[in-house]
Parts: sequence; C-alpha cells; structure tokens
Amino acid sequence: MNLGERSYRVLVGEDLAGEMARTLAGLPGCRRVALVSHPILARLHRDAWKELEKGLSEAGIGLRPLFFPAGERHKNLRTVARLYRGFLEMGLERSDAVLAWGGGVVGDLAGFAAATYQRGVGLVQAPTTLMAMVDSSIGGKVGVDLPQGKNLVGAFHQPRAVFCDVTLLRTLPRREFVSGLAEVAKYALVFDGGFHGRLKERAPALLAREGVALRETVAACAAYKARMVEEDELDLKGRRILLNYGHTFGHALETVTGYREMLHGEAVALGMLMAARLAGKLGLAGKGLYREHRELLTTLALQADPLPGVTAEGVLAAMAFDKKRAGGRTRFVLLRGVGKPEVVELEECLGVAEAVREELEG
Ligand code: NAD
Repeated sequence: MNLGERSYRVLVGEDLAGEMARTLAGLPGCRRVALVSHPILARLHRDAWKELEKGLSEAGIGLRPLFFPAGERHKNLRTVARLYRGFLEMGLERSDAVLAWGGGVVGDLAGFAAATYQRGVGLVQAPTTLMAMVDSSIGGKVGVDLPQGKNLVGAFHQPRAVFCDVTLLRTLPRREFVSGLAEVAKYALVFDGGFHGRLKERAPALLAREGVALRETVAACAAYKARMVEEDELDLKGRRILLNYGHTFGHALETVTGYREMLHGEAVALGMLMAARLAGKLGLAGKGLYREHRELLTTLALQADPLPGVTAEGVLAAMAFDKKRAGGRTRFVLLRGVGKPEVVELEECLGVAEAVREELEG
C-alpha cells in the first residue's frame, strides 16, 4: 500500500506468525503489544499465538491478550471503553502497538480503539476471516456501530502492516467463509479485468479452501482494495466509494435484521442483487447484468434465503441513516455492466423501492 509515510505491507501467505513478531519488534520503541481478539480464536489458533508470543518475548516485547465476545452486537462504544481500560492497565504507550487478531469486527473495533487511545497508537491487522482479509483489514477505515446504524462512528487509521495468513481460514465456519465470498464477488463485478472469469473457474477450489486458490484470490482482492485506497484514501474523490457496491442496501438489511439474522456478506450479496435491479430500472444496464450477478453468486454458494418479517418499507427507512447520503440524496454505486461502475445520486425514487421490493418478494 503506497501512501507516502503511511505506506505499509499487506502480506498474503501461510504461517505468518514469525514474520508478524519480527514486524512488531521492528516498530520503533514498541515494548508492549495489546492482542485484541475473541476467546475462541485463542483456542483455535493456539499454535500460531505461541509462535507469535515466543518471537515477541525473544525481542523483549510483552504480549497482553484483551478479549471480547464475538458478534456484530459487540462492535460498540461500550466494548471500546473496555479496551481502553485494558490498554491503561497494561501501561500501553504511544510507541506500543495494538494487534487486531480476528474478523472485521475485531479489526474495526480494535482499530478504532487504537486510533483514539492517546490520539493514536500503532495498529497491526491480523485478519482471520475471508471478509477481513479481502476487505476490512486493509485501508484504515475503523469504527463502531450505533443503534441507529452501522459504522456511524469511526476514523481513518492506517495499520503498520496487514498479515493475511490463509491457513487461519481453515477453522472458519462455512457460513462465514461463504459470506466473505460476497466481497470477493464484489471486486469481480465492479472491477473485472479478467478476475470475474477466473473467479468462476476457481469457485470449486475456493469453496474447498485450497491454499493456492485462497492465496491468489486474497492477493488479487487486496490489490484491488489497495489501488482504490491509494487513489482516494479519505473516500472523497468518488473512487473508494466503488468498494461500497451493494452496501447501501446491505447496511440497511443488516440494520432491519438487528445485525443478527444476516451476516455482512450475505447482506452485501442481496444488496448487489438489488443494485443490479436498480441499474436495470434506471436504464443503465440490461437484464443480463442481473443474470450475471445471480450466476456468480450462485457459483459461490451465495443463494439468498427468504427473510420473513423484512419489509421493503423497513429497508428503505433504514437507508435514510446511511452515511452515503448527501443533502437528502442517497449515493449508489451502480454498474453499467461487469467492470463498469458508476456513482449515481438519487432522491427517494420509485426505482429504489421497486428494486428492494422485487428482490425481497422474488
Ligand atoms: P466477524 O468479525 O464478526 O467474524 C465472524 C465470526 O467468525 C466471529 O464469530 C468470529 O469469532 C469468527 N471467526 C473469525 N475468524 C475465525 C477463524 N479463523 N476460525 C473460526 N472462527 C473465526 O465478521 P467479518 O465478516 O469478518 O466482519 C464483518 C465486519 O467487518 C462488519 O462489522 C463490517 O462492518 C466490517 N467491515 C469493515 C470494513 C472496513 O473497511 N473497515 C469493510 C468491510 C466490512
């Protein structure tokens, strides 16, 4: 990631704990590392942690685990306050580092705590979900949810390094893994460049979590993400927003389902289908675009289940809180075709409501 003095490496590979310890030890003045994670990952990734701990202790660095329970519902300011207390107890200083070991929830939350504690301490991301490897750990967006909506409080805080160790994906529950494939599909649909075709071919190997397929796919997505962030780090130039394809609808779906029923990627997958319908209704794209979406998502095992109790009205109301709104208008990323994104600003419009309703009601 080339961002001048905030540049950093995104490593994609296998068994990276030793390299991670060396990187942390190389941060100037770093003597303590706060390892933010979930208790379950301490058990599942015990061997990697032992290696990390050994490497750090050889370099004279103390490691303190700070745990919080898994789940989007914990991505809030109360958990951030708990982390601050942990940082204070361990005497974390500005030259020390926070290591976020987990999925997007850990990365966003630990990252936000790192961005704000003492006006910013170093952050290293160790993503353990596919979602976090291909998207959330890269690019410096960190934050927490409010009851009114997702990610409404946040900051930009670039990590010092990102370690995508694909061996850690072996323990990820299948539903979580498949949910992460929605973000992979997003890159294919928005940027293409041959990736769309390769992804369809590679889908069986990916679903079987074969090492080569995982490494190549994560690396390709990380490169797309890095390019967008380099072009538009603070999300002001209409480039980085392209990564939000399907997310305006998706965030609203997560809000109306109370962040419980749907995983983030599942909501994004449904959101991309709504966006493809909307592009059709606005005359931007033909029917083929929606078919392409369905085909790719089905190949990646992302079939949407019906959502009882979720109404189009509820989803549209939740969209009113979306951050992408500017002056009463909502900004949507839509596609003219695969690999042809466009940002469109719309007032509350019939097409949006119809796209949501048709997709929900089938
Ligand atoms: P998550 O962090 O909730 O993790 C999903 C579940 O998998 C958790 O129960 C976790 O404990 C478990 N888990 C994680 N790694 C595991 C492993 N290797 N083995 C077994 N279990 C494992 O979910 P997620 O999909 O990674 O992240 C979603 C979050 O990311 C959302 O809050 C979303 O808003 C955020 N996000 C942020 C950005 C950004 O740019 N900052 C981008 C996309 C998404």
